[in-house]
Order: sequence, then C-alpha cells, then structure tokens
Amino acid sequence: MAATTGSRTGGPDALGRFGSYGGQYVPETVMPALRELEDAFAAALADPAFHGELNGLLRDYVGRPTPLWHASRLSSRLPQGVRVYLKREDLCHTGAHKINNALGQALLCRRMGKTRVIAETGAGQHGVATATAAALFGLSCRVYMGRQDMERQALNVFRMRLLGTEVVQVDAGTATLKDALGEAIRDWVASVETTHYILGTAAGMHPYPWMVRELQAVIGREARAQVLEAERRLPEAAVACVGGGSNAIGLFAPFIPDAGVRLFGVEAAGHGLHTGMHAASLTAGRPGVLHGSLSYVLQDADGQVLNAHSISAGLDYPGVGPEHSALKDTGRATYLACTDAQALEGMRLLAETEGIIPALESAHAVGALPEICAGLPEGAVVVVCVSGRGDKDMPQVARIMGGGGKP
Ligand SMILES: *Cc1c(COP(=O)(O)O)cnc(C)c1O
Repeated sequence: MAATTGSRTGGPDALGRFGSYGGQYVPETVMPALRELEDAFAAALADPAFHGELNGLLRDYVGRPTPLWHASRLSSRLPQGVRVYLKREDLCHTGAHKINNALGQALLCRRMGKTRVIAETGAGQHGVATATAAALFGLSCRVYMGRQDMERQALNVFRMRLLGTEVVQVDAGTATLKDALGEAIRDWVASVETTHYILGTAAGMHPYPWMVRELQAVIGREARAQVLEAERRLPEAAVACVGGGSNAIGLFAPFIPDAGVRLFGVEAAGHGLHTGMHAASLTAGRPGVLHGSLSYVLQDADGQVLNAHSISAGLDYPGVGPEHSALKDTGRATYLACTDAQALEGMRLLAETEGIIPALESAHAVGALPEICAGLPEGAVVVVCVSGRGDKDMPQVARIMGGGGKP
C-alpha cells in the first residue's frame, strides 16, 4: 500500500469480517459483483497510479488537506483545560466528508471500465456527492431516494438534478433510506456489467465497510500528522459523530495502533434513549443483520428493524458499520449518545466561540465534548471531526430555535 493513501491499519479478514461482524449476508446473485469489486479495489490500492490520481483530485478538486484548527475559545468553555483541535471536513468541496468516498469510488468505477453509477441516499448528502463525482467523470448517474425523503430534502433533489443525475423515487416500505438501498441493490444486480454501486457509508456488505474506511482514512492520516506538527505529540482523544460510521472510522483508523489515543464515537440519542426515539444502534441496539452485514442494529424483541429518529438526517439510520461494532466489543473505542437538544447546544457553542456553524451531524460530536473532556486528564489534546457544514440545516434549525436564534 502506498504511504499516501489508506489507513496504516489492518482491514477485515478474508471473509470480510471485523471480529465477528461484517460479512456478506446477500443473495447469491450479488456475490459475483461483490467479488469483482473487492478484487478491483485491492488492485487499485496496490497501484501507485490510482493513489496518484486520487490524491491529485483530493488536493485540487476537494481542497485537501483540510485544516486542523486549534479551537482555543471553544477549549476554554470545556473542562480539564483541554486543547481542542477541529478537523475541518466542512471545508471540503460540497461541504462534507462524503466527497472523499464518492470520488474514490467514481475513480474505481472508471478503472473497472464501467460508465454508470448508482447510489442510495437518505438526506440527499451522499446523493449530491455521488452526482458531483459523476458529473466530474462524465458518468451516467441514478440515485434512489425514498418518497418521504424526497419531500423532506427537496433542495438536495434539485441539486442532484442540476448536476445531471436522475433521481428515482422509491415508494416501497417506509419510503425512506432502507427502501432506497434495497432498490439500488436490485438495480445493481441487473446492471452490474456497466454499473458501479457507490454506497455512502462504512456499512453494508463487504467490501464496502473496508473500501469506505480506506477512502475516508485520509481524514485521520492528515489529522495525525497535523496534530503531531502542532503539539509535538499524539492527542489523548479523537472524537467523531457516528451515523453509518464513515467519518468516524476515517478519523479513527490511523490512530487505532496508537494505544494512548482514546477513540470516542457519538451517536444520536434523539429525544432520549428512554423514549425509543433515537438512532443509537451501538448504545441501545444488539447484533443483527441489516443491509448484508452483521452489526449492531436497532430492533424489537422479534428482530424487526426499528425506525431510527434523529434531528439530523445524516445520523438517522438504524444500523452502523461493522468495524464500529468490533471496536465497541473490544473496548478500543467508546461510544456515547447525544440528544437532539445537546446537539443544538453544540451547534450554538461552536458557532459562538469559533465562528464555525457545523452540520447537525457534526454538532453531536461537539455536544458530547463536555462529557468526554470531563473524563480526560488535565491539559488533554482532543481532535474532533467537523464532518460537514451547517448551511444545509439552517432552515430546519431556524424553525426549531425561532427567528431570534433562541430555542
Ligand atoms: C452523512 C453525514 C454524516 C453521517 O455519516 P457517517 O457515515 O457516519 O460519517 C455525518 N456528518 C455529515 C456532515 C454527513 O453528511
């Protein structure tokens, strides 16, 4: 593996498992496509030309490396005299980390000689990232989206269409993300000769959790070098929000071999864990199969997958990537949950202290900082991933807080 791309830590085993999690719980018809993809990605990782092209795109198109900002005014509002550094994924082109993955997979699509990409999207952020990459590469692109989500995220539907993507409405089931994902897989099985399926997070069946982790590990690789440069030592903690888990595993992966760096993932506690209206799969779920992979899942006593709830559309998913499940069980990472109200407080705190308005997803990581920092040693250095910017959330937050900005 070239030194400039990848995570510097081991991936899954030969069966696509992280510990007992992950794998490929899929119909026989999908297996050839997954095997082809796994081989193509392994070959790309071993090819310096792939790294060269991807790194050029990340630099000149996405705007990497993203800065690591020493947030001194935010730090002064937190316990233990911590020194907080923000990894600014919100400054990426299209406003979030998802473009790192979409571009890498679009490049892979071209290497495989395919001309068409498809994707599923819930909030529309991954759909926009995929539509962007497809426009850049001249690939034909179709995005599946639940009817409910299309209504809630009309602006992102418009963005995708402006980028030349066909957005297909999914009416099946609950007409949300998990139904759109099923529809995308059906399309893929029928069109695999010409089509690559760009999955948007580090979840689902192997090889996606591994592939997305390697493509997002640029976050942690840059952050590790930047914090070493700024502090001349590694941080005590790295913190990120967890939906499917891609920005978190991207930040964590390069730090996993550094035993002294504690890893904190923050899930969405929604209205509160006791209400049942949340998206905290690791905190309140149990192992089960969802979207082709064994991982922690929100489910009822009969194993029926429950609907998730979060103020943040990007965290509103009842499953989580399998590597996080393994990191939870081994204790290498710690997962906690932040309510809608705490996330709004996190958004306000970061806005007022640093002049940075985070996405509602990222605001969960900020909202959990008082609790996380209280358990760290005096003077601890903490790296926090700001996975995206808050512009997309302003209409929703304004409705909740009211015009004066007070909740
Ligand atoms: C989609 C999204 C997330 C959640 O996805 P992960 O795969 O868990 O990173 C977090 N932050 C932003 C800004 C997003 O758009």
